[in-house]
Amino acid sequence: SIFQSAHFIKSAEKLSQCPLDQGVEVAFAGRSNAGKSTALNTLTNQKKLARTSKTPGRTQLINCFGLNVEDRRLIDLPGYGFAKVPIEMKKVWQAHMQDYLMNRRSLAGVVLVMDIRHPLKDFDGMMLDWAKSNNMKVHILLTKSDKLKRGPAQASMFSVQRELKKQGIDGTVQTFSSLNGDGLDTLRTKLSEWLVL
Ligand code: GDP
Repeated sequence: SIFQSAHFIKSAEKLSQCPLDQGVEVAFAGRSNAGKSTALNTLTNQKKLARTSKTPGRTQLINCFGLNVEDRRLIDLPGYGFAKVPIEMKKVWQAHMQDYLMNRRSLAGVVLVMDIRHPLKDFDGMMLDWAKSNNMKVHILLTKSDKLKRGPAQASMFSVQRELKKQGIDGTVQTFSSLNGDGLDTLRTKLSEWLVL
């Protein structure tokens, strides 16, 4: 698939350092350890495109990847949610995230990665609030679905769908597993749609 052509473009600390704001991009966000890097690696069929987090919360950079179609990008936003990160760093992170999400014109949508066993934590709620107030599209990836049986996995998905509806957020939800490939096609279809591939 086209996602296999993903290649590193650059790391940015803030919006002003990101690639030229033209074309279309999709950003991946999520709490540290949710499985964001693994999902990106599975999507692109590359073992080391995104770094999986051995040291949670350490990478505070916006990593930009290009696809071999003009001006189509995947963005790996810094993971969030570790108690050990000093409050000042959290504030800087939050300001940069907000700036990126509010002002990035080429941003077509955000894939919000959550561990299917612990969905909708504080950070996720904050992201959903931003999405709502900025009229941004969200697609929720409930990762590690292999950790649950099919019934509970579907139940988790429906519960997240209900919560979105309750909050008036126009978003989609799917289960995903890097281990057994659950939801990979669904994710690729959604991204192709957003990226107009
Ligand atoms: P990130 O911090 O969100 O980038 O999370 P990582 O991608 O580094 O994943 C965190 C941990 O969850 C790692 O130990 C991964 O091996 C594990 N993990 C990620 N995705 C899956 C999955 O789909 N299934 C299972 N069983 N484990 C996963």
